[in-house]
Amino acid sequence: MHPNIWHPFTIQKGAAEPLKVVSGKGLWLELESGHKIADCISSWWVNIHGHAHPDIVDAIHEQARTLEHVLFANYTHDPAEKVAEVLAEKLPGNLNRVFYSDNGSTAVEVALKMAVQYWQNKGEKKSRFIAFNGSYHGDTFGAMSAGSRSVFSDVFRDMLFNVDFVDFPETWEGDDEMGEKEDRAIEAIEQLLVENQDEYAAIIIEPLVQGAGGMRICSEEFLQKLHWVNRQFDTLLIFDEVMTGFGRTGSWFASERAQVKPDIICLAKGLTGGFLPLSVTVCADEVYQAFYSDDPVKTLWHGHSYTANPLGCAAAVASLKLLEKTSERFQSMEQKHRICLKPFSEMKSVEKIRVKGTIAAFDIKNEEKSGYLNSVAKIIKEKCIDKNLLLRPLGNTLYLMPPYCITDDELSWVYSQVEELVSELE
Ligand code: PLP
Repeated sequence: MHPNIWHPFTIQKGAAEPLKVVSGKGLWLELESGHKIADCISSWWVNIHGHAHPDIVDAIHEQARTLEHVLFANYTHDPAEKVAEVLAEKLPGNLNRVFYSDNGSTAVEVALKMAVQYWQNKGEKKSRFIAFNGSYHGDTFGAMSAGSRSVFSDVFRDMLFNVDFVDFPETWEGDDEMGEKEDRAIEAIEQLLVENQDEYAAIIIEPLVQGAGGMRICSEEFLQKLHWVNRQFDTLLIFDEVMTGFGRTGSWFASERAQVKPDIICLAKGLTGGFLPLSVTVCADEVYQAFYSDDPVKTLWHGHSYTANPLGCAAAVASLKLLEKTSERFQSMEQKHRICLKPFSEMKSVEKIRVKGTIAAFDIKNEEKSGYLNSVAKIIKEKCIDKNLLLRPLGNTLYLMPPYCITDDELSWVYSQVEELVSELE
């Protein structure tokens, strides 16, 4: 372990020596040892086109020669305008006002502040939120508050603001209780909205897939029902698409796949194709209009030094172009996952197989409780390197979230390696 480095999400004491990566290309990472491993999860779900795509490399290079950075209050630049135009065109409904920040947590933080201030600016005091059990929205205080209480946030529990949590109606292949779970969730939300009428600023959800909570999937119909309820009670709907955005669910956005138009959407991760930190919070025109005033109190007083960094925006422009050009890849991956997953339904240690777009997951059964601290994660993390795979299970949930450049042969090979690995656990 390097004496000057503190790694994220890592129990430092007794941690395995981190593997030093020297280069990346497409699906593959090369380690200092010369060993090549397949990045089956697009690192932290960001490298949607694989590593080192030359189009993005060139765009950043070109931008760095022209303008590396400039403050974004009173000044603007072409790459930021271009990204905003593409997003406004691609996003559903009238989500057309783009507010930049630089990671998923702050995109959520901005969304929460926007929601509370939206009502305040309209003369209403609504500041409560409804969120879902199992959710993860990031590590800043607002994002932690909106996320399910867990080992990640326990220490800060007393400092988080109160949020009302409802069960996420997770489902999987062969689940015949999906409808009942959805009805129960909708009823619970309605009850909260009735009991605390006019108090909720917004409902926040990771649409279609809860990522860090264990790749838990819900149906498109559930999001439609949620949207309907939300409209009846006049609160805002926030979609945290930090992970699900940019093709991950097989459509450009989960909101597009579910045909639901939220009021605010958070995007990050795949936005720059995994090259640079950049995020956006995009709101509908009605939300923006509540801030459009001469009164300084109605201004959204929020921003960061690197807001709309031109290098990040140039990377995003290139990544969005690539996404448009290669959309067939993310649209067709769900079918490929389904075919490759067939043998897994026969394995006795595998349960809850689920697929949504480019994301495939299942749970490993063992004597321990399901969840993030299940010890099988450590065993898999160690074993997968010998199989030339980069995997990072979420507790006993093993998932694949490959970059869209993965070839059919590479995908079949990855699955054969995973099958071998899982059978060694049985
Ligand atoms: N929201 C969701 C749905 C996420 O999956 C994540 C990260 O995994 C975040 C927010 C936080 O993003 P970041 O790690 O960029 O702060």
